[in-house]
Amino acid sequence: MRRISKRQEPESLRVYRESLKEPLPDEDVWDPYQPKDDARQFVTQEQHELCAFCQGLMAWRKTQMKLAHIVPQKVLVDGKRLDLVWTNIVGACNGGERTPGHLQHCDTRQGNSRLCPELDPVQFENGSLTYDKYGGVYRADGNLDVQDQLDDVLGLNLDHIKEKRVAALRALKSYLAEGADRERRLQDRIALLDPDNPSDQPLLEYADFLLWHLRYGELSHSH
Ligand SMILES: [Zn+2]
Repeated sequence: MRRISKRQEPESLRVYRESLKEPLPDEDVWDPYQPKDDARQFVTQEQHELCAFCQGLMAWRKTQMKLAHIVPQKVLVDGKRLDLVWTNIVGACNGGERTPGHLQHCDTRQGNSRLCPELDPVQFENGSLTYDKYGGVYRADGNLDVQDQLDDVLGLNLDHIKEKRVAALRALKSYLAEGADRERRLQDRIALLDPDNPSDQPLLEYADFLLWHLRYGELSHSH
């Protein structure tokens, strides 16, 4: 994961929100917002084509994607209050929507659970997660409550996701080994993936897992 910098909301969302009268307590105000492609396009850009949670590919018109409420809509009081607030809306992969529950991940798995602030993609502190070479992701300070949410609420250590991270690592390793200029390629990749140095380019899938391995793990100088 990495922190998402929310930019300006789609104009259509602002206009829609401001056109609403005071909603009834049970009224769904999100579904009737219909230019949702505006929102999909905006989150795709903000997130450089990666899912807010697993960092798998997620892009408007290229992949299936979801608009996810960080604080779920069904959470009492806050859920309603934040239903149409842009900083509460991020893009997520489809999370294995049509697969059995134990294989689901990301927003699909989160359902109506509320994430701890440490895993809220808009408040997330970059560098607070660490990784291993088998594709596992861990809370760097060992906080077990956060780890439980990573594992159980978001499903980010499911085998099939770990396998995809390992495959991305393998592909990056081959890329670095292709030419005689490994060091330059390595520095270019670090620059591309560095969250402190954002560009408008799409990111590589599992960007922060790869960056960690470029800096500290499998692909760093010491290996
Ligand atoms: Zn995902």
